[in-house]
Amino acid sequence: MFPKVRHEMEYVCTKCSARHGIDELLYTCPDCGGVLLLNDKEFDKLKETSGKEWQEIFDGRRATDCKALKGIFRFYELMAPVLEEEDILYLGDGHSPIVEASKALKDKLGLNFAFKHEGQNPSASFKDRGMAGAFSYLKSMVRKHGWDNVLTICASTGDTSAAAALYGSYVGDPIKTVVLLPEGKVTPQQLSQPLGSGAAVLQIPGVFDDCMKVVEYLAGHYRVALLNSKNSWRILGQESYAYETAQEYRWKLQDKALFVPIGNAGNITAIMSGLLKMKRLDIIDGLPRLFGVQSHHADPVYQYYSQPEENRTYHPVDVQPSVAQAAMIGNPVSFPRVQKLVREYEALGGDFNVVQVTEQAIMDAMILANMHGHIACTQGGECLAGLIRAKEEGRIGSEFAVLDATAHALKFSGFQDMYFQNTFPECFGVTPKKDMRNLPHTIISEERRNALSKEEFTEEAAHNIAKYMNLLEK
Ligand SMILES: *Cc1c(COP(=O)(O)O)cnc(C)c1O
Ligand SMILES: [Zn+2]
Repeated sequence: MFPKVRHEMEYVCTKCSARHGIDELLYTCPDCGGVLLLNDKEFDKLKETSGKEWQEIFDGRRATDCKALKGIFRFYELMAPVLEEEDILYLGDGHSPIVEASKALKDKLGLNFAFKHEGQNPSASFKDRGMAGAFSYLKSMVRKHGWDNVLTICASTGDTSAAAALYGSYVGDPIKTVVLLPEGKVTPQQLSQPLGSGAAVLQIPGVFDDCMKVVEYLAGHYRVALLNSKNSWRILGQESYAYETAQEYRWKLQDKALFVPIGNAGNITAIMSGLLKMKRLDIIDGLPRLFGVQSHHADPVYQYYSQPEENRTYHPVDVQPSVAQAAMIGNPVSFPRVQKLVREYEALGGDFNVVQVTEQAIMDAMILANMHGHIACTQGGECLAGLIRAKEEGRIGSEFAVLDATAHALKFSGFQDMYFQNTFPECFGVTPKKDMRNLPHTIISEERRNALSKEEFTEEAAHNIAKYMNLLEK
């Protein structure tokens, strides 16, 4: 049942175009230091199968019993046709539901859209897709080389470390996982995840970009496996988001617009790469419009693409506090990948945009979405804010929008608390809308409980509720 096809793959440098073999763990080009992408040297062989036939193959796999094909590797041939079945990890990753916005929400906003709820991945964010890719490759390397001791390390805004720790603890010996976090800059839920998985959790003062530098230094000087998005096997795993979205809409994407929050820019890279592969193989009817979204507190990619095309210059930015904390990155590692893929995307007739949104808009959008039955995190709110903004700017028409809710709302409930309690520190610039606040209401006091018999207490509590909610008597 597992596909027989095996291709040769290679790393390609986004800067100097040098090619390097994949039998070594590489994160950057040994020649020039550029970031890498993985390339299937025999990709053109996939064209011997028609787009229609590929659709049938992938649709047929929806009902597979083969464990290795149940998750993100349903699209094996498009991703990593070098891995063996025994190396592929499946922890329930991928196939996150696409939930269409309710009529009430669509009417309220005058927009037609759905969320893809990536929070329903095993560690509650899309990062599991990339880790399924990276750890499957790592497992194959351990098996081939007989390594007896592998230390994986990543810097993280929270979700990368949760996913790395989860997959690392599942694989176990000889893999050990270390995560490096900016102290106080990840949510309590995100901190509890790698701790719960048994990873070594290390912290430094500063922001994500500081952690990244330390991890890169380590990778340059010591024997460690880097699991940041410099690791192009993660990008490969995250391509599955694009394949699933296409499959959900019966391979018709031309009339869609995909909205993706941009932090380190790995996700948008992966999604673009997946879309390009499907287009080249005629699996989809055409390329969807693609919208990256960034907060005005962390917007280097927006700044770059809002300059006139002839003379764009890239500048990292110093980030300010953002509720879209997982995307609060001033110098995205994958920016050179984005540049390269946007050129290819546009050359194939695709349309790439970046919109900028305020912290206020992000919070309002997240709260509004979740009050209509979604489970969007702040970055999911950022996507909805991006759609609203794109509409205001006249940059989107009748396209149906698919918004990437990149993590589960529960990971970011602290920001919801601040909204409801009106306790945002000034630096965020967020003022809650009165009609969207929601706080628990105590219906009967502790003193009354002590003063009353059990029966009286039940009755009084019930009466208080009836009064508070204006209930009618039967
Ligand atoms: C990592 C992450 C992002 C940002 O994705 P990039 O690939 O870094 O651009 C957005 N949202 C969540 C929840 C994340 O964990
Ligand atoms: Zn290079």
